[in-house]
Amino acid sequence: MFEDLNDLYQQVILDHCKKPRNFHELPAATCSAQGFNPLCGDQLKLFLAMEGDTIKDISFTGSGCCISKASASLLTEFAKGKTKPDVEKMFAEVHDMVMTGKYAGDVGKLAVFAGVHKYPARVKCAILAWHAVIAALKGDAAPVTTESAEI
Ligand code: ZN
Repeated sequence: MFEDLNDLYQQVILDHCKKPRNFHELPAATCSAQGFNPLCGDQLKLFLAMEGDTIKDISFTGSGCCISKASASLLTEFAKGKTKPDVEKMFAEVHDMVMTGKYAGDVGKLAVFAGVHKYPARVKCAILAWHAVIAALKGDAAPVTTESAEI
C-alpha cells in the first residue's frame, strides 16, 4: 500500500513497527495519556517522566497498525530529553507534514511520515501518538481520540 513511499522511508517505518523503541510501561512516569483511533483500532498509552519542563524519559504501550506504532516509536526517540515547547513545536510540524507532505523545519527521521498525506485514512494513525503526547504534557486525564481531535 506504500508503493509511492521511497524504500528508505518504508524500511524505517517497518523497522520501528517490528521493533518499537521504548515500548514498555514506565514506573517513574509523572504523567501519561491514552490515545485511541477508532477508524483503525489503534490504541496507545504514552508515559512521560518529567523534570520541570524536560522529558527525562518517555515510553509507550498499546496495539495498532504499523504506522501508529512506528509513529509512537519515533516520537519517543525524538522526545526524550526535549522540552515541552520542543515537542509542541514538532507536533505542529508533523501535523502539517502528514496533512500536506511538506515540512518547513528540521524534522529529522520523522520525515518518513511525509508520504502519509497520500493516504488520508492513515493520517490519523500517524498523528495519534502526537495527540497523546500533547494531552499528557497538558495533564489531560481523559483519553484522546482522533474523532474529537481536529484531525
Ligand atoms: Zn492505524
